[in-house]
Amino acid sequence: MGPASRALAELLGTMALAVVLLGCQVVVRADPPQPAEPAAMTAAPAEAPAADDATAPADAPTDSAADSAVPEPGTPAAAEPAVATDEPRRPPSSEAAPAPEAPAELAAPGAPVPALADEPPGVVWEPTAPPVGRLRTIAVDPGHGGPEVGATSGSMAEKNVNLQIALILAEMLANDGFRVVLTRDGDRAVHPEYVQSGVRGQLTRDLQARVAIANRQNADLFLAIHNNGSGDPGQRGTEVWYNRLRPFADHNLALAELVLDGIVQHLRAIGYPTVNRGVKDDTYFRFFRGRPFNIYVLGPGDGPRPHVPTAMPGVLGESLFLSNPADAAALRRPETLAAIARGYRDAVLGYFERFAD
Ligand SMILES: [Zn+2]
Repeated sequence: MGPASRALAELLGTMALAVVLLGCQVVVRADPPQPAEPAAMTAAPAEAPAADDATAPADAPTDSAADSAVPEPGTPAAAEPAVATDEPRRPPSSEAAPAPEAPAELAAPGAPVPALADEPPGVVWEPTAPPVGRLRTIAVDPGHGGPEVGATSGSMAEKNVNLQIALILAEMLANDGFRVVLTRDGDRAVHPEYVQSGVRGQLTRDLQARVAIANRQNADLFLAIHNNGSGDPGQRGTEVWYNRLRPFADHNLALAELVLDGIVQHLRAIGYPTVNRGVKDDTYFRFFRGRPFNIYVLGPGDGPRPHVPTAMPGVLGESLFLSNPADAAALRRPETLAAIARGYRDAVLGYFERFAD
């Protein structure tokens, strides 16, 4: 096949992929995404999943179907580490991998990351009580926001549920003597340039902005607040993700276990029998063309999507599934959101009892 026909074949293949990817996203968005721009047709990173993660569009009802639709030439499916098909996973995104403004160098843990002129500072809540020990800052990141709705259940959108939990949690922590920095406190994306879902680069920039806020505010912990979605409405329960490749991996795991225990215990205390799905290593959060992607806001940033990582331990909590009728009904009750927030709060207190300094 000559260069011209190969280019045409790649173009057609990428367009077909874009149709698959964008088609998945339509499921969870009010506004249909725009077609990928021409640059996305040739740049491999443009096809990489945003895997955010945690923050990719909807932890949505397209997970395993979306993955199986992605061609992975030369990569036998059996060669990949097993990822249970019933695990909640996000649909791939047409977002570019590295944000244009992300420096190539990776931040050393604890090293302050210089502020970028166009990045938002976050919303700081000063403590309303004296701190126990030294003053500590907790970064609270309500997943999604603005054009990124996350998982949905009828009129209920994950972005709004996450924000409600985060605001309750922020107040609790401020009353405990913590300084809290919220990456957002309203229904908007964190990065002001993220104005439309599905446009190349915008989601990645938004994710990087969340990390940048936590780093710039010298946060001690990073808590990504999410809820789940699956194509299988039978999937339900609580799980917490952590990264085991960071220098502070033991802190990540300990925090994940504390957050999981806290949420599960507080949900059960109000009479909701959530399923404990465990803590989960995000190394193989999802696969794209045979390559594993971890969660953007948790990972070291030295993989296929180089980026500045957080300088502090963190986890991503998936409290309940919007795609499960019982979980979704629970999330519609204010007492459930308060119980989840209490779970995170207890985890923060427990963490600093364990890692006092
Ligand atoms: Zn989410």
